[in-house]
Amino acid sequence: MPMSDAAVIIGAGQGAAQVAISLRQGGFRAPVVIIGAEPYLPYQRPPLSKKFLSAPQAAESLFLRPHAFWRDQEVTLQLGTAVGAVDRGRRCVTLTDGRELAYASLVFATGTFARALPIPGVDRHGVHSLRSIEDVRRLRTELDSARRVVIIGGGYIGLEVAAVMRSEGRDVTVVEAEERVLKRVTGKTMSGFFDAFHRDKGVDIRLNIRAAGIAGDERVRSVRTSQAEELPADVVLIAAGACANDELAAAAGIRCRDGILVDETARTDSPGIYAVGDCTRFPSRRYARRLRLESVQNAIDQAKVAAASILGRAETYDPVPWFWSDQYDLKLQIAGLADDHDSEQLIGDVAAPRFSVEYRKSGRLIAVDAVNDGRAHMMARRRIAQETAAEMAIGT
Ligand SMILES: Cc1cc2nc3c(=O)[nH]c(=O)nc-3n(C[C@H](O)[C@H](O)[C@H](O)COP(=O)(O)OP(=O)(O)OC[C@H]3O[C@@H](n4cnc5c(N)ncnc54)[C@H](O)[C@@H]3O)c2cc1C
Repeated sequence: MPMSDAAVIIGAGQGAAQVAISLRQGGFRAPVVIIGAEPYLPYQRPPLSKKFLSAPQAAESLFLRPHAFWRDQEVTLQLGTAVGAVDRGRRCVTLTDGRELAYASLVFATGTFARALPIPGVDRHGVHSLRSIEDVRRLRTELDSARRVVIIGGGYIGLEVAAVMRSEGRDVTVVEAEERVLKRVTGKTMSGFFDAFHRDKGVDIRLNIRAAGIAGDERVRSVRTSQAEELPADVVLIAAGACANDELAAAAGIRCRDGILVDETARTDSPGIYAVGDCTRFPSRRYARRLRLESVQNAIDQAKVAAASILGRAETYDPVPWFWSDQYDLKLQIAGLADDHDSEQLIGDVAAPRFSVEYRKSGRLIAVDAVNDGRAHMMARRRIAQETAAEMAIGT
């Protein structure tokens, strides 16, 4: 295989698009190739569980850039085909259609896949997960004749879908294994608020209960719970989290641990190979540990740093993460990471509703969740950046 000066990017999502854009903006002149398993131009996923789910439009409405942009930027997109193997020695990738492509720099931007549940019946018709345009299409088709929707998982995606389904007048049940919704991502006050808000809208939330099986014949008929209850269902959504697509990297001998391990410059342990976005686990001095994030902010900002690294510029990544979630007419904006806070403080008017919750650890502000208060969110990002700036040791 002849030597190449190309940058090859695996995955055609948010992170991949940004690497390509930043490479060109930074003056990268060699070929840039994006390989994407899905048949679409790079698109944004957040609307899939929000506006796009409630009113599906043409796929183009989600595209991050139109076709002409990629053509003008001379970014080659190989879509509807996946990378099946990476040969680090020969510096080339093999596509599942058999073609080989040589690279000088390789970027993994492979994202995540929906976590499967190890319970019987998940392959019945009517059982869904939600990560892609095709997933929304499949789900929407079945909703025409579905009144009862059971959602397994009370995280962001589960609750966003619950809000859309309830707004359409369907019977919605959310099954959550933990003792509160959104437990992984927020504190007790905010969980309590969203729990009450959904119940008030008529969502049946079942806490401390696991889905034990999905019953029916060819089609789903009900979800059986760990308490031997049968929850009738025409459609089931499994929203039980996501796992990093790191198998390809691991098979190529790149260090992974529930995510592709990168340093603060988005480099893997293999020279010339980088990774960005949902599929990575990166060191954060700010939070004194390695993080694997699933957010647009993370994909974009880490992609910019990967492009800088490819261009030979010294930039590092250690963000104050931020995220948002839209449910009914509520806009939740999250700054920072709250998971190991030791105190939380409510500010504002919950009844309005317009308020925020501040999370501290050892007196330092580490995260703020704001509901319908964009100003509090923006200020929080600055305040958290200041209060978490001190360098901390990072566990590996
Ligand atoms: C329903 C939903 C709602 C969301 N809502 C929000 C939100 O409100 N706010 C927010 O900040 N974030 C949200 N997110 C998360 C956000 O969309 C992701 O963090 C972001 O898309 C990550 O970008 P990425 O480039 O890392 O991965 P992705 O955008 O997931 O792209 C990865 C791509 O790589 C492809 N791929 C994988 N393996 C291969 C291979 N071997 N060869 C070729 N292609 C491959 C995949 O098919 C996929 O298209 C949401 C996600 C979902 C699914």
